[in-house]
Amino acid sequence: MDDKKEILRRLERHYFGARPALRFRNAFELLVAVMLSAQTTDKQVNAVTEKLFAAAPDAKSMAALEPAELERYIKSCGFYHTKAQNLLGACRILADRYGGDVPSTMEELTALPGVGRKTANVVLSNAFGIPAIAVDTHVFRVSNRLGLADAKDVRETETQLMRNIPMDKWSDAHHWLIWHGRRVCTARKPKCGECFLFDICPSGGKV
Ligand code: SF4
Repeated sequence: MDDKKEILRRLERHYFGARPALRFRNAFELLVAVMLSAQTTDKQVNAVTEKLFAAAPDAKSMAALEPAELERYIKSCGFYHTKAQNLLGACRILADRYGGDVPSTMEELTALPGVGRKTANVVLSNAFGIPAIAVDTHVFRVSNRLGLADAKDVRETETQLMRNIPMDKWSDAHHWLIWHGRRVCTARKPKCGECFLFDICPSGGKV
């Protein structure tokens, strides 16, 4: 078995069933939660969205909020002014153009304000079950350390991961890599000595 396959096999065994830590009940809630999650923790986002979705459960009602009102709800997520502007802009488009629904293509999603490929891929895979690999900071770092990718940027990493991981595992592998990045292969001082991939990781003990 080559190393990439063995790495994926072990990741799956350790993180089987890993799911997003963000709480959501539908595509709209997931989109909003991911848009809020930049530069903050999933726990913080979950605390904010519980109250926000009670007040504005869909695109139409969120688009009707005053900017200052929305900012009050999301303030603790940081960058609240920009996030509020993007959310209001996106909700207006969803309400006007899609009848309040969230579209299910990369092109339509990334046309919404504040929505990049990573956010779109999270929504496509977790809300619509469309195979996709969202490359966030953990996925980028861990996959390049492990040799599942050898790329300088997130776009190229995504392309290489799609090549190196079977399509039916794309969405799951995204979660495995995030969990490994949070628990073991951290940005600073990765725990190589405790890592179950140390013997086959090209970066083991060298980061
Ligand atoms: S051996 Fe070290 S660098 Fe490689 S995946 Fe494990 S923690 Fe990360």
